[in-house]
Amino acid sequence: MQVLRSAEELRRSLCAERRAGREIGFVPTTGALHEGHRALLRASASECRVSVLSVFVNPLQFGPGEDLERYPRTLDADLEVARAERVGYVFVPEPAELYPPPVLTTVHVAGITEPLEGAFRPGHFDGVATVLTRLFGVVGCCRAYFGEKDFQQLLVVRQMVTELRMPVEVVGCPTVREHDGLARSSRNRRLDPAARAAAPCLYRALRAGAEAVAAGEADPGVVRERMAQVIASEPLARADYLEVVDPACLVAPERIAAPVRLLGAVHLGDVRLIDNLAAAPAS
Ligand code: AMP
Repeated sequence: MQVLRSAEELRRSLCAERRAGREIGFVPTTGALHEGHRALLRASASECRVSVLSVFVNPLQFGPGEDLERYPRTLDADLEVARAERVGYVFVPEPAELYPPPVLTTVHVAGITEPLEGAFRPGHFDGVATVLTRLFGVVGCCRAYFGEKDFQQLLVVRQMVTELRMPVEVVGCPTVREHDGLARSSRNRRLDPAARAAAPCLYRALRAGAEAVAAGEADPGVVRERMAQVIASEPLARADYLEVVDPACLVAPERIAAPVRLLGAVHLGDVRLIDNLAAAPAS
């Protein structure tokens, strides 16, 4: 396993791998790796000869007052995980390596970036699209693995890659959860014991919403209310949003007549968690 800080070195190494006929799997992350990341690395290792992991806390995707400074950084442990998951190259760039000044080029995906996370984190998806464009530019032709845990991000990446005809095949992987349903997240390690005990309320709320849909509830307002009740019963939690949307365009349907996606974001103290779940009316 090689740990590289230079974009040029990584580009050259991966060109050589491709010339030798090896397919590249790429897993971009913010580090503080957990079982969710491991599932992406395993999918990559099972489908591609060479796996590339990037670990980069991207300043562009954090807004003012968000947790950029407090975001957990655990590089030594991350390298152990990478080794165990048969990663060939770990790319750990300094910010100036991906953003050599002056930074004049950013990427904006319209439409699907506006609701949900986009409404609460202005500029977040511009940061995501910009860093991924730069990373894909370095890595080149690859399969790139993303978690459904960040459902809106997955849609944004698919849209960008398709429209810009990037030589990247986007692969979505299911959300990995703790035993109590809490979606694995690097931010979970910042939950104190009381907040950790309360945190599964988000998954419970999504489950309650999905059960209502499966039982025939066709009014999105009623489903939203079901989810809100679960969060309201947990004094430590405060919701940013709990929504019912069309999984293709992230717009709320007037009536639920086809599969939908339920998405939520909650604060537990100073930690903000997101999660989502598929739901479908019984046929
Ligand atoms: P992050 O390090 O949080 O930026 O996430 C890097 C990648 O891991 C993204 O594609 C995430 O969607 C994915 N990911 C994070 N948490 C999970 C999880 N619990 N299950 C599956 N994928 C995840």
